[in-house]
Amino acid sequence: MDNADYLDVALRLTNATLPDVPALRAALHEEPWWSERAGEEDLAALRPVAAGLRRTLAHAVAAEHDGVLREINALLAAHPLRPRLSAGHSAEPNWHIHMADPTESPATEVAAAAAWGLAHGIVHYGLGRWGHCGADGCDNYYLDTSTNRAKRFCSPRCANRVHVAAFRSRQREG
Ligand SMILES: [Zn+2]
Ligand SMILES: [Zn+2]
Repeated sequence: MDNADYLDVALRLTNATLPDVPALRAALHEEPWWSERAGEEDLAALRPVAAGLRRTLAHAVAAEHDGVLREINALLAAHPLRPRLSAGHSAEPNWHIHMADPTESPATEVAAAAAWGLAHGIVHYGLGRWGHCGADGCDNYYLDTSTNRAKRFCSPRCANRVHVAAFRSRQREG
């Protein structure tokens, strides 16, 4: 994983509704090392992390520097990086770095990776490219990497939903 992957972890955790362990596992499914071991304790540990990520992004969307710094630095302090080099988890060597001791709970590493990923994302993109989905009933945050910064929705699904609704209302009026 690299910094872009950790930002992806941060956004998936930010936008996950976390009612139960299967929901957490779904949010982490791209990393089986985390998702397959995740349990109730990880869920309890990661809910406040997700809330902190959301507060950070709410401040980013509002271009509130002080709020961004306060929230993300609180996460970084509470969930510090403790990198560990690993030779892999099977017979074939597969050198990689974990963001925390991989023998600890998945939540320990996920929290550190997500805080690092979002902090690095803010360094990389500044505050101008974060958004909150414009679709009714969607509470997701997104990163807009388009050249014209025209993104308004978290996903093609939300964009389609809104466009179809607008089209129907125009048809009714016409
Ligand atoms: Zn590993
Ligand atoms: Zn959305």
